[in-house]
Order: sequence, then structure tokens, then C-alpha cells
Amino acid sequence: MQKRWAISIGSFGGTVVRIHLTFLLLLAWIGLSALTAGGPRAALFSIAFITALFACVVLHEFGHVLAARRYGIPTPDITLYPIGGMARIKSNFEDPRQELVIASAGPAVSLGLAIVLMIAAGGIADPARLAMPSGLRDFAGLLALANLSLFLFNLLPAFPMDGGRIFRAGLSLLLDRDRATRAASWTGRLLGLAIGAYGVAIFHPILMLIGGFVFLAASAEASSVDLRKALSGYRIGDVMVDDVHMLTTVDPLSTAIEALIRGEQDRFPVVDPRGAPVSTISRSDIMLATQQIGLDAPIAQILDRNAVSLRTEASAQDALAALETGADPVFVVDAQGKTIGIVTMNNLAEFRMVRAAIDRPSPRPTIFGRRDHAVHKG
Ligand SMILES: [Zn+2]
Repeated sequence: MQKRWAISIGSFGGTVVRIHLTFLLLLAWIGLSALTAGGPRAALFSIAFITALFACVVLHEFGHVLAARRYGIPTPDITLYPIGGMARIKSNFEDPRQELVIASAGPAVSLGLAIVLMIAAGGIADPARLAMPSGLRDFAGLLALANLSLFLFNLLPAFPMDGGRIFRAGLSLLLDRDRATRAASWTGRLLGLAIGAYGVAIFHPILMLIGGFVFLAASAEASSVDLRKALSGYRIGDVMVDDVHMLTTVDPLSTAIEALIRGEQDRFPVVDPRGAPVSTISRSDIMLATQQIGLDAPIAQILDRNAVSLRTEASAQDALAALETGADPVFVVDAQGKTIGIVTMNNLAEFRMVRAAIDRPSPRPTIFGRRDHAVHKG
């Protein structure tokens, strides 16, 4: 189904490129502030420059995408955000060598672009020219500078930068992967704090924003490792949700509307009449389709068949891996292929919270009774 707040601008060799609407807002804001500060010429220059810069970011992302394809890893899309691009690469990088190659390919493209532009402009431009740029030479020189910065910034050995992945992959060759991930995540958090603090010190809102983003993204990577650890030893059957309202492909849209009104769910798994997983449908999909094709049309008409399914006896970590590479939810099926529940990120997080509460050592007896480690002390 349609990605929210992102519009697709084209597809290249099976990878869709999308622009997040906030990026267009940024473009408008930059154009407007250049217009008021330096007139229409300056506005045109700024908008052309930011557009060219983001084209370079797309090429950087395609570096990752093409490297991933060499290993046969699916790369469904690239999304451009105001803070940069993100290529979705459907792999968990169990093989550090693959991660090393894929993570290095993006910065390699940025370095290549910087060199080509430097040759074209006869060197990098003085950043001060950005205030009063003129002509193609400044354009290429500033773009060279931007690509060089992109290259250097991305090589910082911290998540979520490419350097963090290179660092993790390199460390994984020596120590275990979880430790390597934690190390890269901690350097990422420290770096995010440093960038943010510097941004506060010189009162630079964009730097504060970048610092905050780096901190959060680096933390997310560590919490994914913690979650993986918490799920170790559990099967999908232990963690799935089974009291979920499902729709079938032959139901008319009016049934979906009724389900929206009567329950609290705003996304529904859709299965075929035999119970096999088909897709997921959201509140906004349902509302839009109702306006476009009417209440009597079957749900099947608005679905793409993209459901990811796993058997109940598969490990809970497999479900997490599928969720992290874009499946949401994971359909859980029995031996006959019939859907019996789903797994979502929320429900895994909840499972971890409950496990943590049960396992926390407590001096008082608890309602959960079994306290294996306390028994030994007695
Ligand atoms: Zn990159």
C-alpha cells in the first residue's frame, strides 16, 4: 500500500525513489528565505543547489543498492528526508563481509562525485561563497564541498552513519556481533550528544536537530540488539497476537468500514477465503478506497500481495528480522498455511517488557511464583 507522506518520483531497476513531503517543505522554506534575503536569482540558485545535492544523495544511496543487489538482496525503495536519504535493504547483515561492502559503496560514490566536481570546478569552493554564489563554477565547487562533507560525515564510526556499519562489520570479524553493535551504538550516541551540545552552544537549530537524530537512531540500533537477545529461545507461537480481527479478500469494503467502527484496530490483516495471508489494509487505505470504488467492491481490488508469513514453530528472532526489514505485520501460519495470528513490533516490545518484569529479581514473593535464581539462595 501507499507509503504515508511520501510521493514516488520514479523507479530505477526495481528500486522506487520516494520524496518525503517534509523534504518538499524544506525546499520551499530554503527558496523563500533565499528570496527574501537575496532576490529571485539567489532563490533559484538555492533551490537548484539543494535539488542537485539531493540528486547526489540518491546516487550515494544507489551505491548501497547496487552493492546489495550484487548479493541478491532485495532493495525495494529509497526515501529522501530533509536530513538525507535512506535505502531500504532487506538484509540483517549476518555476513560482516557483505555489510562491509554494502556500507562502503555509498561513501565511495560520494567521494567519486566530489572528485569529478572538483575537477570540473578547479577545486572546492570556499563555503563563504554560499552566501553570495554566482555562476556554474561556484555551483560545482560548492557541490564538490557538499559531497566531500557527505563522504567524511558518513565515515564517522558511529551508528546510524555508514561508518558505524563499517565499524560494526569490522569489529564483527573479531568479536561477537552484539558486542560490535553495542560499541558502534555507544559511539553514535556520544557523537549525537556532542553534535547536539555544539549546536546548542552556537545556537544552530539544524545541528541540534542532526544531533538529536543521530542520538535516537544510534539508540534504536542498540535496542534492536537487546530485543533480539530478549527473544532468544522463544518461538513465534509464544509471542504472537491471536485475537486480531482479520478481513478476507472477498469481503466488501463495507465490512472493513464496519470493523473500523466497531473495534479499536486501525489496521487489518487480510487473508484469502482459505485463510492464507494476502496483505494488510489500513484505515486510510479503507477510507480512500471507499471514496474511489464504493462500499460494495471487494477488498481484493485494492490490495497488493505482499504478506510475509512464518510458521508458529519458527524462532521469535526470525519474526523480528522480518519486521526490521519492512514486513508489518508478520503473518503467523499453521502447517496448512492458514493464518492463526500476527506479530508486530509493538507486540514484541510488549513481550519484552513483560519478560523483564517477570525476570526482575525482587525480595518479595511475586504473583508469578517461579523465581528460579532466588531458590538457590534459600
Ligand atoms: Zn550511505
